[in-house]
Amino acid sequence: MVTAANLGFPRIGPKRELKKATESYWKGEISRADLESTAQQLRAQNWTLQRDAGIAVIPSNDFSFYDQVLDTTAMVGAVPPRFGFAGDSVDLDTYFAMARGRDDAFAMEMTKWFDTNYHYIVPEFAADQDFRLASTKPVDQFLEAKALGIETRPVLVGPVTYLKLGKAKGGAFDPVTLLDRLLPVYEQVLNRLAEAGASWVQIDEPILVLDLSEAEKTALKTAYERLAKAASLKILVATYFEALGDNLDLAASLPVAGLHVDLKRAPDQLGAVLDAIGDDTVLSVGVIDGRNIWRADLDQALEPVKTAVAKLGGERVQVAPSCSLLHSPIDLDNEEKLDAEFKSWLAFAKQKLREVALLADAAAGKADEAAFADARKAAAARRSSPRIHDQAVKDRLAAVTSEMMKRVPFAERQKAQVANFHLPPFPTTTIGSFPQTKEVRQKRAAFRRGELTAADYDAFVQAAIDEAVRWQEEIGIDALVHGEFERNDMVEYFGELLDGYAFTQHGWVQSYGSRYVKPPIIFGDVSRPQPMTVKWSGYAASKTERPMKGMLTGPVTMLQWAFVRDDQPREATAKQIALALRDEVVDLEAANIKMIQIDEPALREGLPLKRKDWDAYLNWAVEAFRLSASGVAPGTQIHTHMCYAEFNDIIDSIAGLDADVISIETSRSDMELLDAFVKFQYPNQIGPGVYDIHSPRVPNRSEMENLLAKAVRVLKPEQIWVNPDCGLKTRGWAEVKPALESMVDAARALRQQYAQAAE
Ligand code: GLN
Ligand code: ZN
Repeated sequence: MVTAANLGFPRIGPKRELKKATESYWKGEISRADLESTAQQLRAQNWTLQRDAGIAVIPSNDFSFYDQVLDTTAMVGAVPPRFGFAGDSVDLDTYFAMARGRDDAFAMEMTKWFDTNYHYIVPEFAADQDFRLASTKPVDQFLEAKALGIETRPVLVGPVTYLKLGKAKGGAFDPVTLLDRLLPVYEQVLNRLAEAGASWVQIDEPILVLDLSEAEKTALKTAYERLAKAASLKILVATYFEALGDNLDLAASLPVAGLHVDLKRAPDQLGAVLDAIGDDTVLSVGVIDGRNIWRADLDQALEPVKTAVAKLGGERVQVAPSCSLLHSPIDLDNEEKLDAEFKSWLAFAKQKLREVALLADAAAGKADEAAFADARKAAAARRSSPRIHDQAVKDRLAAVTSEMMKRVPFAERQKAQVANFHLPPFPTTTIGSFPQTKEVRQKRAAFRRGELTAADYDAFVQAAIDEAVRWQEEIGIDALVHGEFERNDMVEYFGELLDGYAFTQHGWVQSYGSRYVKPPIIFGDVSRPQPMTVKWSGYAASKTERPMKGMLTGPVTMLQWAFVRDDQPREATAKQIALALRDEVVDLEAANIKMIQIDEPALREGLPLKRKDWDAYLNWAVEAFRLSASGVAPGTQIHTHMCYAEFNDIIDSIAGLDADVISIETSRSDMELLDAFVKFQYPNQIGPGVYDIHSPRVPNRSEMENLLAKAVRVLKPEQIWVNPDCGLKTRGWAEVKPALESMVDAARALRQQYAQAAE
């Protein structure tokens, strides 16, 4: 019998119940018991939902109050010393303190989970790190499900993945060397799970899809040799997000009872996996996309399942989503505003589980013909729908030439731009947004609900822009911004104005902790029915003699922060967006806005997980940016902006964007980032951030002068711009005003030094 399995279910609740409860708990509005009871209800609901969807292998311990890696840190007692934890088990407040910081202890770092938009809390390890069992959550939640009559397969983050995702504190050592210290805790957990009655455990080792060092490979072998011996329960090692590639033999040789592979991202690996897998090993085939919202073409999804069954026999095959459904919204049935046709193309977590069950039944010879016919019909309708296909967009994309991605050399552009803008040395600017105050958000919400007329809303935005422009002039900023008061979000704002995009009401996915995002859906050929930003940027420009920067979100970021159509290469979608943006750039220029910033904060996070795939991605990503930017005259200055990442290893691609000016986040790394720009001899202009906007702290002038002094040491003075790390929308005016005033003072001081030195 082929079984239907799941690897993980979203924990946030269909109406964001977990967010509401957690945040209320943080504010002291509800008790711990209230929070626990909401969590318990959500878990019960999720387990029952999965059972009712026909899933035989249901996960437990996939629930988390914040993050599964942080849960693992609690499980193995690796609480950093600054949190003063000494008890037997990590209590909820210590747990939240690690994630969010506490008055006396700063928060642990957070970073992206592989190539997703989910962030995990980065473990911190000391060279003499002790591990001990400090949370019995995996066992507790297994028993909780059991009490409801539901047999589950507990999920753990694997020991080697856990160590590899951590950071060595206080000295350079490889965290993977801590494996021997860590394994006893895992052995204990497995034994307790077995005692509690678990017959299987799912251990996630997604690092198996990365390029691994010899030490890491050895660690994986050691870990599973020991864990397999430790307990009487069976282990399934789960891999996802990519092909096993060079690690296939390693994965197949681990002495475990089951292996999960992602056949959505990497369908071609099936043959090799079937050849390599051990004689008794169960194979879990991830054929339903856990990372996207498209309904499966069941006929197509069934093929690899059949192939696996033919080779291994039904007893040894499980059908599953490609990865945990954590990365998928929960329930399409809650969407009331999407039309029936469009909904028939989608599947959220609940619907995906139904697909998994249908496939398992079909592979066992009990196909639900009606359901298959329905899926077939929907897939065919989607393929040929006029809503998706816009011949004009396709023709335009096909006609793109390399000329369209080129501007004249930077030196030439610079001459024209110097003449256009008359900027002082070390020009000051900001990254685009000003504080999104409560009032700004309320007015926008009221306008959306129809409680505020368009005229009243426009008057409000105009007044906000007027004030922002006046204030920037007053404090002496050189290149102004309009403040982005009219924008909800840098991707959503543009998505709503473009054709080919759709939005859900409840399609939330966890980004980190209680922060969830609702990515737009790019379902069709993308085009721009009309100008998107000319009205407000034009208005702002009319209020000043100084240069006003137009502000756009770049094609790669538009792609990266959305659910993207799966019926054409991502490159094609990115370039369609680029063409739409190109028109916007040209329109801004025609409206006399000759400084235009195209933000690409997500450029780096689009990098494939395997190095060998980087070049192909970077090539088209850079081309998409250049396509959007290159329709303007040499005298028009293109800016770009990046943040949240290290750029050292992709610096040549960043230079390849050929933006006239790039502003980047550097202040937290104390300008370390600039090393890359120096080594590479970055040819164009750079604004290394001097104000860490992620902190409520207001930096003073001398701190910013120090950072600038570092920049001056390594860059040519005429290359340098002075700006914050990122947009200011999350800050309040009370912080922004003094900080930017000091920033302008710091730039002025530097100008003076520079002028004196030149005399
Ligand atoms: N222009 C955007 C802003 O200022 C950039 C945001 C970002 O980089 N994430 O808000
Ligand atoms: Zn930024």
